[in-house]
Amino acid sequence: MHLLENNKAYGKKIKKSHYHADMLSVEEARRKILSKFSKLETEKTPILKSLGNVISQDILSQIDVPPWNNSAMDGYAVIKKDLLRASEEDMVYLKVVEEIAAGQIPRKSLNNGETSRIMTGAPIPQNADAVVPFEDTNELERNNLEEIGIKINVDHYENIRKKSEDIKNGSVILNKGTIITSASIGLLASIGLNTVPTIRKPIVGILSTGNELIEPGQKNEPGKIFNSNSYTITSLIDSYGAVPKLQTHAQDNIEDLEKKLLNFIDVDLIITSAGVSKGDYDVVKDVLNKNGDINFWSVNMRPAKPLAFGIISLNNKKIPLLGLPGNPVSAMIALEKFGRYAIDKMMGKSIRHKPIIKAFLDSDIINHDGRRLYARVTVFRDSHSKLIAKPINNQSSGVLTSMQEANGLAICPSDIDILNKGQEIDVEMFNRKEDISEILN
Ligand code: AMP
Ligand code: MG
Repeated sequence: MHLLENNKAYGKKIKKSHYHADMLSVEEARRKILSKFSKLETEKTPILKSLGNVISQDILSQIDVPPWNNSAMDGYAVIKKDLLRASEEDMVYLKVVEEIAAGQIPRKSLNNGETSRIMTGAPIPQNADAVVPFEDTNELERNNLEEIGIKINVDHYENIRKKSEDIKNGSVILNKGTIITSASIGLLASIGLNTVPTIRKPIVGILSTGNELIEPGQKNEPGKIFNSNSYTITSLIDSYGAVPKLQTHAQDNIEDLEKKLLNFIDVDLIITSAGVSKGDYDVVKDVLNKNGDINFWSVNMRPAKPLAFGIISLNNKKIPLLGLPGNPVSAMIALEKFGRYAIDKMMGKSIRHKPIIKAFLDSDIINHDGRRLYARVTVFRDSHSKLIAKPINNQSSGVLTSMQEANGLAICPSDIDILNKGQEIDVEMFNRKEDISEILN
């Protein structure tokens, strides 16, 4: 539990009448949802499709990286002992026996007094035990190409990258359970693999509902609004590492809804937006009730109280469905609080809460009705380097610009009726830890 219901450091208790026995806590709702998901199957994934996936078995290298000692500089491969007396004033002259470019194999081993001109990455010739960079030779001034003047004494193995210093043949380079990063993809490539066993990405069907909707790009019409939820949801799903499958929004009628849902028989999760408020008579609820075992919940949170979740049957296939509220801010927050966790679980990731930081509140936050309040705030550092959380003026769940402006959610526990200006509070940041430091600097 990372949440703060029992944190008595907060302000005064709210009146008993504000408790909501009929509501599920965020954690209860999430637990119920997560119980219906498990890790998906393993598949052989092309490395360039694997970013963010979880590796499903230890990856062993069957080669050494680097495969041989090689030069870290453009310069001359030398025998260290030949240069003991070398100095700027009194250069040691060596005979140049060959030139080795990257990608070539040395043909000559060195005898005392000999050197090979060598490029970065090229294999070190036999008997050489150091590389002298061009800048420590008379490379630029010399006129006899058969020999080179060396100005320095070098250490043993100076400017040589040793065989297997990065990866040893037979060693595990990536452990089962690792989330693949760009570096992991590079590592896989560096041992010659172009596929990797990972837990496959879930496919997520996305459907907004509502007679009032038109799609962006269409002509504006009286009485209509542009569908934004489909687009925030799709891009969030994308950012979670799953594969969004977006349908054009459905009208609030049974035929259209059922028809659009039938395009989702191959998905791992369906996400709908709107039409799930308790007390509403809504065809969305009718269709979900008729086709599946869907519960309509009130979750003890603001925004995003109404939520639907259950299993829908489409042509006898049973698919989990998460019904988000229609208000754009509620839809985003509910997706983050519930959908992301389900997707992470399917992808084999452990539970990853958003990072919580402490900040001082810039103005009061009032909790009217005893729900856990997630207030949109902008966190910044003031001139004394203190972290300040400034609530966005309009906290309406329909005001999507607030999500653009904010960089975190101040958490007001359900049993607290006011967070006071100047008080130190918890803020759940939108970004991951590594991004926060940037925001905080
Ligand atoms: P509902 O959940 O159907 O009661 O919708 C709540 C509010 O969200 C209404 O003002 C809707 O017009 C709005 N809304 C519903 N769906 C969308 C959507 N896809 N994009 C933007 N706003 C929406
Ligand atoms: Mg509606």
